[in-house]
Amino acid sequence: MGFTIPRVDTLLAPYAEKSYQKYVDEYLSICDNGDKNKADEYATKKVYRDFEQGFQSWEMAFNSVGSSRGDYPFIAISFGIGTSKWETMASEVALKTRMGGQGKEGFKRPVLFPKLTFLYDENLHGKGKKLEWLFDVAIDCSSKAMYPDFLSLTGDGYIPEIYKKYGKVVSLMGCRASLSPWFVRGGMKPKDENDYPVFEGRFNLGAISLHLPMILAKARQENKDFYEVLDYYLELIRNLHKRTYEFLGEKKASTNPMGFTQGGFLGGNLNPNDKIKPILSAMTMSFGITALNELQHLYNGKSLVEDSDFAYEVMQYINDKANKFKEQDHILYAIYGTPAESLCGLQVEQFRKKYGIIEGVSDRPYVSNSFHCGVWEHITPVQKQDTEKRFWNLFNGGKIQYCRYPISYNKEAIKTLVRRAMDYGFYEGINLALSYCEDCGYEQLEMDKCPKCGSENITQIDRMNGYLGFTRIHGKSRYNAAKVAEIKDRVSM
Ligand SMILES: [Zn+2]
Repeated sequence: MGFTIPRVDTLLAPYAEKSYQKYVDEYLSICDNGDKNKADEYATKKVYRDFEQGFQSWEMAFNSVGSSRGDYPFIAISFGIGTSKWETMASEVALKTRMGGQGKEGFKRPVLFPKLTFLYDENLHGKGKKLEWLFDVAIDCSSKAMYPDFLSLTGDGYIPEIYKKYGKVVSLMGCRASLSPWFVRGGMKPKDENDYPVFEGRFNLGAISLHLPMILAKARQENKDFYEVLDYYLELIRNLHKRTYEFLGEKKASTNPMGFTQGGFLGGNLNPNDKIKPILSAMTMSFGITALNELQHLYNGKSLVEDSDFAYEVMQYINDKANKFKEQDHILYAIYGTPAESLCGLQVEQFRKKYGIIEGVSDRPYVSNSFHCGVWEHITPVQKQDTEKRFWNLFNGGKIQYCRYPISYNKEAIKTLVRRAMDYGFYEGINLALSYCEDCGYEQLEMDKCPKCGSENITQIDRMNGYLGFTRIHGKSRYNAAKVAEIKDRVSM
């Protein structure tokens, strides 16, 4: 589970202003010569320091407090479009704190939480625009710490459309999930031209993933039409979602007093004994998609890079179906590019049990994530962006695009590619293998052995998918074998 705090720059600004006034008064009460400029300088510095301490303490708290399951709560924050003095200061300090790293001197490295999302508006961060400098700081941060990921608000597609039309930001939940519009008065559709969507206080009720290569293999083996078998599984997921929805709807508001009775969630002002069903209508339920590359390969022996027509046709079909289900069930179904951390291995095992090892489909210990190209493909970041763009608007319940940057890539090249992604309307991540020597503190991209002291006591941070993780700590891996194999194969991801 996780939480997203959207637009922290704007959220924190009024409190920064209050502190500023307090510091100005403090200065003037001690130095009664009444120099307003000096007072301003003093107070601004103090507020800056407060932001630094604030973000540092978030980093400490979110990376040390385990949840009851023993992992970290997934906290994500977004920022970047606030233009006032305090808003830009908040964004800048969040980035500088992350790239400064945590830990003792000589051994500092970036933390993993909160996940940072930089909100990109071409009219603010574009070339020669007012906040281009802030975008530069963000690129600098990503080239050292991989985060922030960049969310386009002014390119093509669903999230930019909402921003351009309503000025609303769809901040992503966890590593990639995004909410469908829910209108304040009309619900699924705007009631009239003055109606507008709301994205705060909402959540996703769960995702169930399809196993597309398995569905195609089954259809062939049983001499059935692929879409007939697909329909069966889409209905199966739909019914599971409906059952979950009914089941949760019977729960009482007292199960989560802050969320359901004290306004924590949208419409969450119920009485403790009320059932929560009325507030669930604004929440989404997802059909997850993974292994699209393997589906295409099973279909005609080609990877997504070589031919993506069949995969595209299937995704259009699934989108149309989900839209019909949405109308009929009054549930906000969404199509989600599944991150598949352990599912990437499980699906291969399931496939092999029934249909054996098929080249390009089940011969690797993992399947490809959502609509992404195979990580092993020798393609440039530009080719990868172009191939994946075709699917972008068919995954509006959650998606991310990322490219692996070779060591030789300089910051300018990264900046150009992120700008390109922003034009496309992407949610864009930068992939680097950040490696740190635990013995001497030396750091560089991708190393198994420290070139400085020869130690193999390496800690490494890689992108799991939409989020980052420690793939090695003191030389040892913590991830499942399938994911480790995928990380090893990476060329273009
Ligand atoms: Zn070393």
